[in-house]
Amino acid sequence: MIKGRVIKNYNGYYYVDIGEHDLVECRRRGKLKQKILVGDELMITLLGSYKGIIEQLLLRRNSIRRPAVANIDEMFVIMAAKSPDPNRFLIDKILMTCEYGGIHPKLCFNKCDLDRAAAEAYHDFYTRCGYEVYLVSAKTGEGIAAIQALLTHRMTAFSGPSGVGKSSLLSRILNRDDLSIGSISNKIQRGRHTTRHSEIMKLDRDTYVVDTPGFSSLDFEHLQPRDVLSLLPDMASCGGICRFSSCLHLSEPGCAVKTAVAEGKIQKERYETYCKIISSIAERKR
Ligand code: GDP
Ligand code: ZN
Repeated sequence: MIKGRVIKNYNGYYYVDIGEHDLVECRRRGKLKQKILVGDELMITLLGSYKGIIEQLLLRRNSIRRPAVANIDEMFVIMAAKSPDPNRFLIDKILMTCEYGGIHPKLCFNKCDLDRAAAEAYHDFYTRCGYEVYLVSAKTGEGIAAIQALLTHRMTAFSGPSGVGKSSLLSRILNRDDLSIGSISNKIQRGRHTTRHSEIMKLDRDTYVVDTPGFSSLDFEHLQPRDVLSLLPDMASCGGICRFSSCLHLSEPGCAVKTAVAEGKIQKERYETYCKIISSIAERKR
């Protein structure tokens, strides 16, 4: 058996990268019941020229659900500094959805050429929240090299709402000569049906890029309040113990979270995100 990674899933076939130029077209063994996602690592048996059968799914390091992708090493959440103007609540929900999947993402603000001051303000805000933030412009090329430098020997996913310039940014990022895009076989080039599926582009050995179109945020209403807090790492790690162990950090006396907000250790806007989500959970229960 040999190890490989699913690059694409189409019509019941899984296209598996085994480190060679061509992908192996695989079926799954009937007794293998788990769902197989793109990005999954697995063991296959070769059955002849680039055909194979999937025997075993290896343990996933992380996964996101919509779109379904596993084993992401790095996730860039792309927003625009302006046009469309970012919405902090939406950004927080996307970040929290990544955290829920086991991924601590990086943030990338595109269109910095349009509003430098706004871009800097978002940079400072989310840096204080513990996220790495990149300011870029697909138009001028600013900041593109810094992202390209992070791609090697990793699987990097890019997600973001439409209109932020994700396509422009990705083509900038991928067009660099030394990423040798030319060597990607036609089979793994992005197809036309990319709206729902994530497809992985292989840039080089062990270097993959995933465009995650239609990334949708988690349905927070099904979570417990303490789980919501854990998806906001800057809030969860602020230290301090509340007087009541059942504290929801809303209006209870002796609340360590509220104290941290008052002292500026937790940023007010992040706390507001928390409160909004908790109240939507409470409404659902009513
Ligand atoms: P997507 O929907 O996120 O894939 O966005 P597109 O790549 O289609 O870009 C949406 C619009 O934003 C297009 O009109 C682009 O020309 C424009 N755009 C993309 N990147 C930039 C940028 O860095 N600066 C400016 N000024 N416009 C950009
Ligand atoms: Zn509390």
